[in-house]
Amino acid sequence: MEYYSSEINRLIEELSALPGIGAKSAQRLAFHIINMPMENADRLAESILSARKNVRYCKECFTLTDDELCPICRSRNRNHRVIMVVETTRDLAAYEKTGKYEGVYHVLHGAISPMLGIGPGDIRLKELMQRLQGDVDEVIIATNNSLEGETTAMYISKLIKPSGIKVTRIASGVPVGGDLEYIDEVTLLRALEGRVEL
Ligand code: ZN
Repeated sequence: MEYYSSEINRLIEELSALPGIGAKSAQRLAFHIINMPMENADRLAESILSARKNVRYCKECFTLTDDELCPICRSRNRNHRVIMVVETTRDLAAYEKTGKYEGVYHVLHGAISPMLGIGPGDIRLKELMQRLQGDVDEVIIATNNSLEGETTAMYISKLIKPSGIKVTRIASGVPVGGDLEYIDEVTLLRALEGRVEL
């Protein structure tokens, strides 16, 4: 049964395909958009297209950026010999918000999960190992405290160990299964300061 015009249905369908947006939210958003002033709708559409076209991966750390190198990798004030490995760009943002971390990052874009069929080749691990050919003093593994995060941490540590580079893991002040991005800055800093060598 079609309640709405096909244009509205199409918008609802596109919106409900987004993560975390159920059928109800999609309807609510669709009607909100339809009632927007035209210039706001234009701005929204334009920002989606422009972000999609221009945002790319930093060629050094693989975070999302609109330049070849992200501002962190470009910065001379950062310690490029300390690399923090995180699962997502959102995790990077969480650590950046603390304002206390002076090293650089490496974004894996996922974690190893045998259950979901995600192997080491499916995340940016090879790229991390390539970076370690340069001068690196420490790799801080800050993957999530979930089964996948721990599996990934263990895998990376085994991979790096033979190179003699110091490998540390953030302390488990971060609750099990907790997504880094939802954890407050104090807890994040404590986890970083209390990191242990693997
Ligand atoms: Zn970067």
